[in-house]
Amino acid sequence: MAGTGKFFVGGNWKCNGTKESITKLVSDLNDAKLESDVDVVVAPPFVYIDQVKSSLTDKIEISAQNSWVSKGGAFTGEISVEQLKDIGAKWVILGHSERRHVIGEDDLFIGKKAAYALNEGLGVIACIGELLEDREAGKTFDVCFTQLKAYADAVPSWDNIVIAYEPVWAIGTGKVASPQQAQEVHAALRDWLKKNVSDEVASKTRIIYGGSVNGGNCAELAKQEDIDGFLVGGASLKGPEFATIVNSVT
Ligand code: PGA
Repeated sequence: MAGTGKFFVGGNWKCNGTKESITKLVSDLNDAKLESDVDVVVAPPFVYIDQVKSSLTDKIEISAQNSWVSKGGAFTGEISVEQLKDIGAKWVILGHSERRHVIGEDDLFIGKKAAYALNEGLGVIACIGELLEDREAGKTFDVCFTQLKAYADAVPSWDNIVIAYEPVWAIGTGKVASPQQAQEVHAALRDWLKKNVSDEVASKTRIIYGGSVNGGNCAELAKQEDIDGFLVGGASLKGPEFATIVNSVT
């Protein structure tokens, strides 16, 4: 933990769940004993945000998994930042690898979305991460720095941003980055912020890790100096395991 904020753990539920399964997950989260000194956020699918917001303990904040790039209006199928705030969301996940590589969002578009959300007062969980082929070609830092620069070029301030480093080869694959691999990239990202933004932003911005984090591997990862929390996919769908991850802060 090097960022000066609290440890930050987000649960990204992705496109999973039904009213029934989400009722159970919320009830498990409400029953869980969660370390109080951790910022905990869950990101349900849009259509369940209202249900979760009205039944979940207010110790856990709500994030959306995406938001529109400008004020709402004639944008069929999109959800605006204003609407997210209206139903009580405090955060939005942007630049997730599934949106980059499955939906085709690029750095410029993601940067604009981040700027819009921040300007309107939502916190942004800004995702970056390299593909396996990038890592094998020795391009991990280049790719991550390029993605980070796109945020840096666009955002008005770093006050409300958490960076999520998620190597694409580790997402949903069960192949977690080793604590050393994750630490190496987190330290490089912090150094990039120091050189290209400011000492203050480098020291206060939380850099969280995502990619096959689970109840078994979280403790070792959490010990790394530059890992300030996690973004959890699959394991966030199980309340007790998610609680273990939240409580792994060292
Ligand atoms: P995973 O997903 O934990 O299932 O690998 C992480 C993420 O995509 O945020």
